[in-house]
Amino acid sequence: MTIKATRRQALGLLLEGAGVAAAAGAGLTAFVGTAKSKGFEPLPPGADDAFYDKCIRCGLCVKACPYDTLKLAKLAAKVPYGTPYFEPRKIPCYMCEDIPCVKVCPSGALDRKLGSIRKARMGIAAIDPNSCLSWQGLRCEVCYRDCPLRNEALLLKPHPRELSKHAVFVPVIDPDHCTGCGLCVYGCPTQVPAINIIDPKTFLGRIGEHYRLGWREDQPHHPGNPADKPELKKPTAPAEPGGLDFLNNMDDPLL
Ligand code: SF4
Ligand code: SF4
Ligand code: SF4
Repeated sequence: MTIKATRRQALGLLLEGAGVAAAAGAGLTAFVGTAKSKGFEPLPPGADDAFYDKCIRCGLCVKACPYDTLKLAKLAAKVPYGTPYFEPRKIPCYMCEDIPCVKVCPSGALDRKLGSIRKARMGIAAIDPNSCLSWQGLRCEVCYRDCPLRNEALLLKPHPRELSKHAVFVPVIDPDHCTGCGLCVYGCPTQVPAINIIDPKTFLGRIGEHYRLGWREDQPHHPGNPADKPELKKPTAPAEPGGLDFLNNMDDPLL
């Protein structure tokens, strides 16, 4: 893998990007619109919901990436033609601290307000327990060691091993921290990676606001939570006696 694109490669990328942009101007926009639903591939850091509308397919982010991670989509790709994207199994995003791909984006499709690469959400890692060596009871943990946000985005947790009294340690993803960089996918030793980067929008659920997980420290009603409102802890006042209480009163001299 070359770290820097050669001048010829860079020129080729610029011409490719310029060609795509020109084609878009000539009416490719309609095609791009229909191609959105083909599938998911991780996009560069800073791409948000408006990315497809803002990206002009110029290829400057591709040229700026020092690891050759990014490439412009060909017609057969899952993302619309000309879109910058990456395939983590081939070359992941190395999470450059200065995020050069975002800095050069002229259209704002890659949001400069991203600030820190740790806040990027290029996708989310998901593990297939049936093919993960650690989940099957073998020591692996390559993804854990390769994750740049180890113990934040990717944690090792004990998991019971069927009838054995011994536990296994398995990789678990924290969606609040995973950037979707794909370094875990790149390192996974299984024939087909047991960990993949997928679309957070189609994977992540959300618990309703009305649920209270009182055993979690970050939730209301946890005994140690300073944000818990003292008035909520007050015992409820006994209800006034009603008709049923009157009928059920066995001490009533009239009964
Ligand atoms: S953060 Fe760095 S490695 Fe990742 S896509 Fe941008 S330039 Fe490439
Ligand atoms: S994609 Fe994998 S390596 Fe990257 S932050 Fe998420 S868990 Fe870590
Ligand atoms: S690198 Fe792959 S096989 Fe190993 S623990 Fe991670 S997901 Fe499982």
